[in-house]
Amino acid sequence: MPKAELHLHLDGCLRPNTAIELAQRHGIDAPHTWHDMFDTLVAAAHPGSQAALLKSFELPLALMQWEDSLARIATELVEDKAADRVRYMEVKWAPAFHRAQGLSLDEVIGIVASATAHAAERCGVEVRLCVVAIRAHDVATNVEVARAAVRHRANGVTGFDLAGHEASHPDPTVHAEAFDVARAGGLGITLHTGELPDDGALVWRALQVRPQRIAHGASAAADPKLLDELIARNITLDLCPTSNVQAGTVATFAEHPLPQLVRAGVPVTINTDDTTISDVTLSEEWLACVDELGLTLPELWACNLHALRAAFVDQPTQARLLDEFHAWARPLPELH
Ligand SMILES: [Zn+2]
Repeated sequence: MPKAELHLHLDGCLRPNTAIELAQRHGIDAPHTWHDMFDTLVAAAHPGSQAALLKSFELPLALMQWEDSLARIATELVEDKAADRVRYMEVKWAPAFHRAQGLSLDEVIGIVASATAHAAERCGVEVRLCVVAIRAHDVATNVEVARAAVRHRANGVTGFDLAGHEASHPDPTVHAEAFDVARAGGLGITLHTGELPDDGALVWRALQVRPQRIAHGASAAADPKLLDELIARNITLDLCPTSNVQAGTVATFAEHPLPQLVRAGVPVTINTDDTTISDVTLSEEWLACVDELGLTLPELWACNLHALRAAFVDQPTQARLLDEFHAWARPLPELH
């Protein structure tokens, strides 16, 4: 299947061998063998918590403070996704986390934009960038990040996100000014929420920043009124079931509410979140949704098409990709 993936983090997708080489080059204390590096990068499935999952990003972020690291990891992510037949992807990352060795926000965004654009052209895929602000950062920093993101619109930045530890920073409206700057600058608005096992209250609160999409949001399934609200406002949930098991959103993959959300009519896309940290390709994630959650092929395909419709991308590119996906599906009556 040609695929679209909207919820994908640059710092969650390092190849283990690349991490080993970059650690050696930059003098970072890290495992030396593929197996040890793999074990370090991949987050444990159990016992999951968002805090434990976020710890998995510490080594990747330590390695991603230099131009060569950022460019290589961005290039390889596009190559790896193209090999999994992802035709459209949005790459998320938090530029403010990559300044420890003196890079500026504009430099960090420029490096990732340039590397992904070159790799996208070479691989024949479409890539857009979603700049992430961090819940724990102060308001001024996130406004600065939003301004930098807007400055790079011509370089493929089309989205603005907020992520980070939700339990300790539950109120995204603190960062309303950053969302306003991004929205006024023409960026699509999304934010991470609903990753903690709750009754949907955090998702309700996230709606106050008027997102077009929500990264995760699985906990919304507990509240039928909230589902009606998501449908009425056409807000898409970019779900990541494997990652949600690691974060403790659900106890097991089989308990993930993805099919329930799809069948309730909530706009849903299916994503990996972090191909390395969750040790799952998009093909594997989709297969698991069919095999373990009972999603039908037409439901899966509808989520895929919806990802293109909800993408933060210009209309001509969206129309071209929809044509391509429809052409692929035309000989397959089981998808209709
Ligand atoms: Zn995420």
